Amino acid sequence: MSMKEILEYLASLQEVDKKLFYLEFSKGDLPKTVSRLKSSISKLETQIKNTLKEIEKIERERISIENLVELAQEKLKKYQNQLYNVTSNKEYDAITNEIEMKKKEIEEGENQILEMIQANEENQNMVKEYSEEKEQLIKDLKSKEKELNALLKATEKEELELNHMREKLTVRLKLQILKRYERIRNAKSGVAVVPITRDACGGCFKTIPPQKIVEVEKLQELIQCDVCGRILIPENKLNPVLL
Ligand SMILES: [Zn+2]
Repeated sequence: MSMKEILEYLASLQEVDKKLFYLEFSKGDLPKTVSRLKSSISKLETQIKNTLKEIEKIERERISIENLVELAQEKLKKYQNQLYNVTSNKEYDAITNEIEMKKKEIEEGENQILEMIQANEENQNMVKEYSEEKEQLIKDLKSKEKELNALLKATEKEELELNHMREKLTVRLKLQILKRYERIRNAKSGVAVVPITRDACGGCFKTIPPQKIVEVEKLQELIQCDVCGRILIPENKLNPVLL
């Protein structure tokens, strides 16, 4: 492949990439919006799942504390009955002491149970909020996806053809040259190959020195703009590659 041919391939590739860029541009924010909605929905799903797990955990703890309170109440009754049968002050004091301790245990347990019930009420409310939010996002997603799909359908054929052309062009270019093209294209807003127009770079519009213009027109080398680094081609000297 001569350098002229290489430059023709690169120029044609640039044309195809420009068209692909505009197709992508015409989709606007829709692809991003759709993926943003999807990730928000999956975040909410995780939050719902975690909150439900938390509810279950608190519920299990509550049941075990309820059992402890129940046991303490039974013991309390026992001690209270024993009070009727005490024979000494010492025994009376001991049992009264036990009764106080059990009463305290029961009170603490009941307070914990109340706190847990409150915490789970809040958790349930959160699950409800998350679920409502999720439903709304799903609705939004469906409508955005519908829009995007209609758009994709309209551009699908053209995009397919362009990608096909792109493949045919890139397969002929040496990997090293293709890599250079891609590197510049990625760094320079999608434009890697530009014509010299009125002695200036078609990318950054800075004047090109006459000697460099002569070099570019010789079509012997791959020459990049000193200012923006884009690959320079002469205007109207290259033929588009016919595929
Ligand atoms: Zn330039």
